[in-house]
Amino acid sequence: MGLLALGTALDWPDAKKQAHLVRAWGIKQLLEIWNKAKGKERDALLWGDEVEYLVVTYSDDDPKVLLSLRQADILTALANDTALSGKGGCVPELQDAPNSRTNAPLPVFHPEFGRFMLEATPGKPWGIDFKELLNVEPDMKLRRCIAKDHMLPNEYPITLTTFPRIGSPGVFTDPYYPVSGSRLRSQFVPDEIANPHIRFPTLAANIRSRRGQKVQVNVPVFRDENTPWPWKDPTVNYDLHQWPEDDDVRSGAAPDNFIHMDAMAFGMGSCCLQITFQAKNITEGRQMYDQLSPLGPILLALTAATPIYKGFLADTDVRWNQISKAVDDRTREELGEEPLRNSRWRIPKSRYASNSTYISTDPRLRPEYLDPDLVIDEAIKQELLDGGMDDRLATHFAHLFIRDPIVVFDEDLHELDLNKTDHFENIQSTNWQHMRFKPPPADNSIGWRVEFRPMEIQVTDFENAAFAVFMVLITRVVLSFDLNFYIPIQRVDENMETAHARDAVLDKKFWFRRNLFPVRPPRSAHNSGSTTPNGGLSRPATPAGPVEDEYRLMTVNEIINGTAYARGGEADGGADDGGEEDFPGLIPLVESYLDSVNVDVVTRCELATYLDLIRKRASGELWTAAKWIRHLVANHPEYQRDSVVSEEINKDLVGAVIKIGEREQKGKGFQGLEGEVPELRMLLGAFRRCL
Ligand code: ADP
Ligand code: MG
Ligand code: MG
Ligand code: MG
Ligand code: MG
Ligand code: MG
Repeated sequence: MGLLALGTALDWPDAKKQAHLVRAWGIKQLLEIWNKAKGKERDALLWGDEVEYLVVTYSDDDPKVLLSLRQADILTALANDTALSGKGGCVPELQDAPNSRTNAPLPVFHPEFGRFMLEATPGKPWGIDFKELLNVEPDMKLRRCIAKDHMLPNEYPITLTTFPRIGSPGVFTDPYYPVSGSRLRSQFVPDEIANPHIRFPTLAANIRSRRGQKVQVNVPVFRDENTPWPWKDPTVNYDLHQWPEDDDVRSGAAPDNFIHMDAMAFGMGSCCLQITFQAKNITEGRQMYDQLSPLGPILLALTAATPIYKGFLADTDVRWNQISKAVDDRTREELGEEPLRNSRWRIPKSRYASNSTYISTDPRLRPEYLDPDLVIDEAIKQELLDGGMDDRLATHFAHLFIRDPIVVFDEDLHELDLNKTDHFENIQSTNWQHMRFKPPPADNSIGWRVEFRPMEIQVTDFENAAFAVFMVLITRVVLSFDLNFYIPIQRVDENMETAHARDAVLDKKFWFRRNLFPVRPPRSAHNSGSTTPNGGLSRPATPAGPVEDEYRLMTVNEIINGTAYARGGEADGGADDGGEEDFPGLIPLVESYLDSVNVDVVTRCELATYLDLIRKRASGELWTAAKWIRHLVANHPEYQRDSVVSEEINKDLVGAVIKIGEREQKGKGFQGLEGEVPELRMLLGAFRRCL
């Protein structure tokens, strides 16, 4: 998140009047930075991760585990401790790690939407060196250690995506606050659940106000043996009359067989793992944006970790759509529920959604991959074109700029400052798509960046490092081999929906491109000295056939491990036994790439442990966190097979996660914990490490 400016945040009726001005100034700021930075060259291939935590209270003798709302105190304690060394000896542990960045800046902690959340990033972005990849996991462990060091003894930073009982009746926060407040008007969570900085409650209130009703976050409930059917969410109160929005549930907001939630906190209170890559120039950035886009749903399914909402097992495994609904500010007209009168367009997606267009100048980007119905602001597009921007990028920004700014500070509206990007960022950073194309900041001090945003946070730093490193290696492979992942953007949308299904990683098929290899000669700058995995041969350019022939449905196992592995390991190269044609698989491609560059044995071994985790998650040899959590619940003696995740179950689940975290802090591997934490090996594998 960007810096939190202080000021007078306008309520929606006033903010709405300024929307046009904010957009107009935002576009001027965008053109300013675009003109300054479009020719930037040779930026380093830096990258950085973001890890988000829930802060929970837990003690053996307290039957309740709660969300701690002390984010501000914890951040203050962190900010006041400039050495960040704390009492726990966190820093020396990192220095013992291989390739330690002894002199590297310490991690940075950031506020997040939930008052029970923290975000941490490395103190400076990671470099291009392969050895640097081995610093990620120790740095993530360091961040967790430092965070814990600035908490109370009974507080813990944990990396579950969502708190299983947020919004359940009774007490789930420390301290306790009653519902319902004027900003969220939720019947399940108090206003105090949100970061009190004016930006956050304003965001929530103005989304509700713009929309004209509360957000509706309905998740299908998991139907177990004893789940009453049809199921009516027993926590919904139909008899509240405090706010006009209390009518929502009486007007059908809470349908049967869905867990019903009604506030931004149910979505934006989720934790994710994000990776930002800097490209060497804008062209490469646009290429990375497009090529990583079709991977989004695949990585969402692979990282699935969100099987519980509001104390009930859900029938979905990931957080994405719930966040999408939790910040959906579309009016009834934009939603298509009423004829257009005041709103400008019907808008098919929430402002938090999978991305809707491609932006690269790559000649392989066929017009058929784009959405012919993409909603854009034509006037804004024209202004960008007049300012010299090309059609494709202008289209992208003219699409983002169909949205209104939600939080507008009065003080920022006095004069346009072209040495800032605040108005541009206001719109840009509240378009929460699964990829983000980040222009350089106003001072042009860093390069064009691309952010990969769909992944769910994982329970351990080992896993989080594994997925971060995997994505870094994928970007290197894409650039080195000039891979082509293009499929029509609407198929990416469909895949995003598919990724939500329970166990999608094993049971579902995703649209994926059949042939990844370039049909044009590989660019020599990238490929000199290395061979492409298909023996250096690019397919000869042939006239383009129907787009539908370019992709087919594949399992995540086929996409990640390749068809040979997915068929049972015999790499016979033939498509004889299953009738399905061969697909090389992303992990084998990463391995070919690693074979083609110089990586020392130790580094290669460490990287292999990460790739192994991902390989086995894709094949089903290991479980996603979602499956592991479901297993814990299903086998808990208190569980009644009725989809209810009780206080006791919640406590034992969170307790297990805390134990895993403490064990991970003590060293590599999780040996010895299996007795205490059920099926830990199904989540993390054999704990085999290199050093
Ligand atoms: P946001 O929340 O807007 O995505 P953050 O500042 O929280 O942004 O995190 C962005 C990530 O990008 C961090 O991991 C940071 O280390 C990384 N980063 C910062 N500068 C660069 C850069 N020049 N190139 C690549 N990554 C960078
Ligand atoms: Mg951030
Ligand atoms: Mg952010
Ligand atoms: Mg964040
Ligand atoms: Mg409770
Ligand atoms: Mg981010």
